[in-house]
Amino acid sequence: MNETKPCPRCGDTGWVTQAGPSGATAERCACFGARHAVLLMERAKIPKRYENCSFKNFEIHDPSQEHALKLAQKFTASFPDQNVGLLFIGPCGVGKTHLAVALLRELIQVKSAPCLFYDFRDLLRDIQSTFSPDSDLHESDVLAPVFDNRVLVLDELGAQRSSAWVEDTVFYIINHRYNQKKLTVFTSNYLDAGEKEIEPVAWGKTSLKKGDDTLVDRIGERLRSRIYEMCKIVEIGGEDYRQTRKQGSYRF
Ligand SMILES: [Zn+2]
Repeated sequence: MNETKPCPRCGDTGWVTQAGPSGATAERCACFGARHAVLLMERAKIPKRYENCSFKNFEIHDPSQEHALKLAQKFTASFPDQNVGLLFIGPCGVGKTHLAVALLRELIQVKSAPCLFYDFRDLLRDIQSTFSPDSDLHESDVLAPVFDNRVLVLDELGAQRSSAWVEDTVFYIINHRYNQKKLTVFTSNYLDAGEKEIEPVAWGKTSLKKGDDTLVDRIGERLRSRIYEMCKIVEIGGEDYRQTRKQGSYRF
């Protein structure tokens, strides 16, 4: 698609009209899907460093990564018929954000689903910035897209230490989405310790040590249990392959 020249078939209206025996009929121009996907992709606000992440270029170095990839693909294939989101949980550098972004991009391209990516800290910062008297934005300006999009990726859950305000705000957001039957996909570096229903996985070099923060330490028990109700938990183990790759093959 050429973005500077208007479409020769429809002049960028997205509709092609044809004269027929019973009057003119209009149908969607072939360019519409591609144009719509470009628009949805812009609105999804996927960070530049992740914009090429796809299922195809997801690297598998560990069985749990293969399992997670399959679940992410299944999630997009069954959309919009599922009623739970996903929580990718595992140490840094195992591809949690890559998979979450790949999933969003696939949903946009294949299912034309309105999606949004938000870093956990950025979301809290953006909401807080509206409290300033100098702010042109109202809290609802930040929250509207967070509430409305069919699928939200909330990346790095727990990256900011919890406070009563953080817990209340995030609970309000995800509870609202849950009640509206909107899907949320989370990623988190914080292992959920002490939960019997979760199978321990190989955490590579970064296994949970005594004194490490757990997910509950970071987001509180109420938020954690709500997320567990609304998501399938997908643990990804393995080593930080960004580190491994840096030392290994740096070719251009
Ligand atoms: Zn067209």
